[in-house]
Amino acid sequence: MNVSITCTDPAIKATIRDHVSRLMLWAPKDHMHITVYESIMDDKEYGTDNGPTDGCMGCTSGLKQDHMALYLDQIEKVRSKAVELPSPTWFMPVSEHIDALIYVLTHEWGHGVDPAPWSMLDTPMAQMFLDTTREYWINDAGCPTHFSDYGMTGYREGWAEAFVEWHMSYGHTESDVARWFANRYGWYSFK
Ligand SMILES: [Zn+2]
Repeated sequence: MNVSITCTDPAIKATIRDHVSRLMLWAPKDHMHITVYESIMDDKEYGTDNGPTDGCMGCTSGLKQDHMALYLDQIEKVRSKAVELPSPTWFMPVSEHIDALIYVLTHEWGHGVDPAPWSMLDTPMAQMFLDTTREYWINDAGCPTHFSDYGMTGYREGWAEAFVEWHMSYGHTESDVARWFANRYGWYSFK
């Protein structure tokens, strides 16, 4: 395992390191580099290409999804409720009980351990795989309850949102979709 963290604030770095050690137990990953930015605009790769995207608190990139960026200014806006979310159920229920930084970190880690083929994202076959799988879990779970509207925006976001809900509630979730993912992918059972 090789997880590195670039962060100028020692307290935030320690918080991240502590939570990563937990994530590594639940869903190990060979390599991850985490860069913490004061502002999303400091991320030349993201800030310049996409502009000051409101609501984007973090992202995961790289062929093996092993580069994570976290944006403290965006996280603080959500934490302090300085921005109005698109809907009251934009985030998963567990977001009421954990800090926004931990929520985003866990969500992005979820992207990092998603087994779907990122390198094939733009091929028709990959898209078909994603569409089919997404339809399958929605049908299987029936009408999703206790699932975030953000998670419904696409299969990958659904995976990451379910990952947060399951792990941060220690499996004690009412979300049928989070339970479906946990069961299907053998997520940690917290027994
Ligand atoms: Zn995401």
